[in-house]
Amino acid sequence: KPKETALQKPHLNLAVIGHVDHGKSTLVGHLLVVTGYVDEKGFKELEEQAKKMGKEDFVYAWVTDRLKEERERGVTIEAMHVGFETPKYFITIIDLPGHRDFVKNMIVGASQADAALLVVSARPGEFETGIGPQGQTREHLFLAATLGIRQIIVAVNKMDVVNYDQKRYEQIKAEVSKFMKLLGYDPSKVPFIPVSALKGDNIKEKSSNMPWYNGPTLLEALDALQPPPRPVDKPFRLPIQDVYTITGAGTVVVGRVETGVLKVGDRVVVMPPAKVGDVRSIETHHMKLEQAQPGDNIGINVRGIEKEDVKRGDVMGHLANPPTVAEEIVARIAVLWHPTAIGPGYTPVLHIHTATVPAQIVELIAKLDPRTGQTVEQKPQFIKQGDVAVVRLKPLKDVVVEKYSDFPGLGRFALRDMGRTIAAGQIIEIKP
Ligand code: GDP
Repeated sequence: KPKETALQKPHLNLAVIGHVDHGKSTLVGHLLVVTGYVDEKGFKELEEQAKKMGKEDFVYAWVTDRLKEERERGVTIEAMHVGFETPKYFITIIDLPGHRDFVKNMIVGASQADAALLVVSARPGEFETGIGPQGQTREHLFLAATLGIRQIIVAVNKMDVVNYDQKRYEQIKAEVSKFMKLLGYDPSKVPFIPVSALKGDNIKEKSSNMPWYNGPTLLEALDALQPPPRPVDKPFRLPIQDVYTITGAGTVVVGRVETGVLKVGDRVVVMPPAKVGDVRSIETHHMKLEQAQPGDNIGINVRGIEKEDVKRGDVMGHLANPPTVAEEIVARIAVLWHPTAIGPGYTPVLHIHTATVPAQIVELIAKLDPRTGQTVEQKPQFIKQGDVAVVRLKPLKDVVVEKYSDFPGLGRFALRDMGRTIAAGQIIEIKP
């Protein structure tokens, strides 16, 4: 459980991304251990158990797995907020890696992320698969870019496997930089940190195994991230992640504040169901709050709303300034993957903030140059993998959507079909 002093630091939400088996769980586990989130005694026990089973290598990933289980059981609000402290921040890991439907979670997570930590394995073959055309290194980076995550740290992992070889690190750095540049990032501003999630090199302390590296450790790089913008002067918006009935308390709605400020006593409305209630109390990490701000992960005890009235995917706002449910939206999308071509009538699933609804592409308005954003073709008949386009999209069920420029977290989305991510995008206009 985090210390109260830690929670008073500015919060930063971190998404951990990267190809399966590249070491995300191990790295997160190691971070939680070296920052003291997991107490020493508990960790020792886990280590001994692992030794007995001959699975020493898995001990850090286990730390992550245990916390993930707690979170999935969803009994406490606290389990939603696994995090650790740096000198400047309290960093919440918004989506514990390893979930079955990772991309879906990544979208929910990414819409809340202030920064992403990309884990790439340096192991021969593994790196190449991840950055390859079907690789998740590529897919997750693409999603991060399209969803508007501007700050990225790259951990070049498993350096122990390649004998801490500088050449391998440089090669990986060059290849990832090349791809990031295409996505609009400035790689010269991206820290690339050679680490071993297993052995602990360059996580908290500088590794003597890589004297050739003189950049920051992973914790130093995390501490050097820019503080996220806190749009307190915008209308209050909270996409609902979970709803509980807690004995003695009543209905508790859990989520992260995107914009605006919520105070105890406020009159709120949840859209689309248009259920109205009053805020009885606000809690974060077992601390009572008088008011919550953007970035706060909170549980809200509301009077007047039952658990059955609202669900994950709905959005809470003030009754005086309710969230928007739109008939149609105009959006800019980038097509990540599609086996053939996408034309009007195509109906994938829209994943936006915490919601999922079917949505139909009703019109292709323009095809854009992916680098410059200039229109290259008006009203194209179809678009394909790799294309960027402006489209008109009709959600087939009521869902809260907002313009990206007003509400970045509520204005970015992904389109999925056939179990894969087809496209990611930003909402540029709303037709109520
Ligand atoms: P995830 O799927 O990205 O969460 O990957 P895991 O954390 O589960 O790691 C996958 C495998 O790689 C496990 O067998 C880990 O023990 C191993 N692994 C992770 N990081 C390192 C590392 O830095 N060095 C070595 N040698 N193995 C690692």
